[in-house]
Amino acid sequence: MTKYEKEIYGIITRSTEHLTVEQIYMELKKVYPKVVMSTVYNNVNRLWKARKIHKISVENMPDRYDRIVKHDHLVCQRCGKLADISLEDLTASLREQMDGDFLFYDLKIFYICPECREQEKGL
Ligand SMILES: [Zn+2]
Ligand SMILES: [Zn+2]
Repeated sequence: MTKYEKEIYGIITRSTEHLTVEQIYMELKKVYPKVVMSTVYNNVNRLWKARKIHKISVENMPDRYDRIVKHDHLVCQRCGKLADISLEDLTASLREQMDGDFLFYDLKIFYICPECREQEKGL
């Protein structure tokens, strides 16, 4: 790993947030003030391709990055906020229903988050 990859990996695995490349960039700047956005993009991509980090893509939202530890996500349909959720591991069930193995699965559960629900009540 390059020094940037190492630092970015640390930022993502330490965070309980789901960070965008921009947020990772802001964090990395605290350690390496001269780093540029394209460097961050390249390093994040390399980490992702090496399957060291997890990418969460939601329509109309910037991609967000997360630690690789298996968990699933609740996605607020209104504000796009992500929350972690742990579901039963589906690996065995999927393998049983498939002819062969698979790479990974990626579950997203859409809902309206508590804050947005509160806001709606206030209207
Ligand atoms: Zn929301
Ligand atoms: Zn997560």
